[in-house]
Amino acid sequence: MAETNSNELLMEKIVSLCKRRGFIFQSSEIYGGINGFWDYGPLGAELKRNIKECWWRSMTQERDDMAGLDATIIMHPDIWRASGHVETFTDPLVDCKTCKGRFRADQLAETPCPKDSRKTVAECDGEKTEARRFNLMFKTFVGPVESEENVAYLRPETAQAMFAQFKTVLEVSRRKVPFGICQIGKAFRNEINPRNFTFRSREFEQMEVEFFIRPDEVVRQLAGSVACVADRPDLGGARHTWGWEVWHKYWVEERLRWYAAIGLPRESLVEYWQKPEELAHYAKATVDILYTFPFGTQELEGVAARGDFDLAQHQKFSGKSMEYFDDEAKAKYVPHVIEPSAGVDRLALALICQAYTEDEAPNDKGQMEKRVVMRFHPRIAPIKVAVLPLLRNRPELVAKALEVRDLLRSHMAVFYDDAGAIGRRYRRQDEAGTPFGVTVDFETLGEQGPALKDTVTLRDRDTMHQERVRIGELAPRLAAAIR
Ligand code: ATP
Repeated sequence: MAETNSNELLMEKIVSLCKRRGFIFQSSEIYGGINGFWDYGPLGAELKRNIKECWWRSMTQERDDMAGLDATIIMHPDIWRASGHVETFTDPLVDCKTCKGRFRADQLAETPCPKDSRKTVAECDGEKTEARRFNLMFKTFVGPVESEENVAYLRPETAQAMFAQFKTVLEVSRRKVPFGICQIGKAFRNEINPRNFTFRSREFEQMEVEFFIRPDEVVRQLAGSVACVADRPDLGGARHTWGWEVWHKYWVEERLRWYAAIGLPRESLVEYWQKPEELAHYAKATVDILYTFPFGTQELEGVAARGDFDLAQHQKFSGKSMEYFDDEAKAKYVPHVIEPSAGVDRLALALICQAYTEDEAPNDKGQMEKRVVMRFHPRIAPIKVAVLPLLRNRPELVAKALEVRDLLRSHMAVFYDDAGAIGRRYRRQDEAGTPFGVTVDFETLGEQGPALKDTVTLRDRDTMHQERVRIGELAPRLAAAIR
């Protein structure tokens, strides 16, 4: 119980910091907000961009077996028939006749009762209906006539465009299987109970890969045998012998490695292998990558081995061949797929939770006081460096500080701040998660002798350690730290 309270308190502090500092706040707030929709303010927008850029770079620039796609949100409605979403993308819904609330039938034990927050909906006395299926796709109409034949859906995942455009992307990018298509974009789900801040939203962004591989029988035909997970000697060699199990494991490892590189170390994540009875009917294996939020250990990403289900379905529904001719194996086949599918918003929230720390620092009078520090990895920190003149009423200090700001600006996101005591300015940057602070003082101007002229104080957010650095060395040094 004590832990529940402290976790609730921690989550309250995080939500309040997000609002106060402009990371994340309610959409349409002046109209009372809209449930399940969130806006990212100045710091949140930078954080999200940095996450997406790191992902995109790791998937495209740093690999030679991936091609990017930026497809539309509204697509032909038959795509969602082929994928199974029209039929089965549903959650069980129950209504409470007492409080008029609507709840996910499979989450009653985790959902607080709106009438009595000490009880869950499973425990309260409200009279509930039988569960019925509720489709999570948002519907709209294409064109001026609101008729059944003009119904279209806002995509509930970005994945399907990568299957539907598989042949085109393959042709234009001149890739060979194994290769992947990757995409970042908005997805929409009319979730029954959006909750836990941005964790379960109705509009969110995904970063997805569809990685197309040879079916095991083709690998066997080509190489005589299929490598198994246990034999994988390294990640570099003999990819032509990798069957789906090895590719699946490879992608789980790749994703864990990437999370560590942006500030979620392996020990902060849980690798959950879905049990056979939990798997979707087409999935051969699925690993969920989970993070321990203050409200529980929950999914950030799913890495699924989907067989040839998706391409085969689109082949069936569109009547267009999705077969690939493998000139090395001299075989024609519908490729199989490994899908690492991550949510940008959930990851942003995990990084915010992971970064949030409280410690103590001396204030301007030298007394220790509480400080809130967002310890973001410099790679994803919204602002990389704050440039601060020691005093704002000394024009020579301000002029020099603006010069330093301009020097750094073309390399990274810089924030210039001359308002208030220096300690207070550091504290503001600590809360924003800015990893470096550069202070221009009288030494910089050469007032304490020529040796210190054109040097500045460089402050480290986490250790609060300060050192003198030459202005000319700042850009390369900071650029190396944020790369
Ligand atoms: P959950 O079981 O938590 O609803 P899911 O298994 O349905 O998630 P997927 O369909 O596998 O999720 O989507 C891939 C990723 O997209 C998820 O791992 C998550 O990061 C993100 N995602 C899915 N639904 C939401 C949502 N409602 N709000 C924010 N992110 C989401």
